[in-house]
Amino acid sequence: MDWLTNLVWHDLIWHNGKLLGIDWGFWKVIGWLGNLVFCARFYIQWYATEKKKRVVVPTAFWWLSLAGSLLMLAYSLHKRDSVFIFAYAVAWIPYTRNLIIHRRHKEAHTDCSGCGKSCPPQSNFCPNCGARLAAITS
Ligand SMILES: [Zn+2]
Repeated sequence: MDWLTNLVWHDLIWHNGKLLGIDWGFWKVIGWLGNLVFCARFYIQWYATEKKKRVVVPTAFWWLSLAGSLLMLAYSLHKRDSVFIFAYAVAWIPYTRNLIIHRRHKEAHTDCSGCGKSCPPQSNFCPNCGARLAAITS
């Protein structure tokens, strides 16, 4: 098992006396943090999909996308790499728009006076208890 310890510890984790063989500094931490946050969104989305047994995009996906892309934008600006700067400079727009639309949709829900469950916009009856929902006059 010495060869395995050697492989995992000396070749992968603590390579050349550095964690993962990387020269760590402030900007490297920002870049890796952005990478991890950006990558985590796919696992969050996959988890939500497995849980609901249908493809869903949870709000956390958009928050992680936004946070990860802003961290990556900061890193790419620091590195002055036009390819990465362009990739992350405009990415925040759809993420932010999705968060705004999600918030508006959530606010348009009506709470059922019978059971208290939040009902989808434009529903006439509560899908949980069947109570008639108060008509919204605008
Ligand atoms: Zn109800």
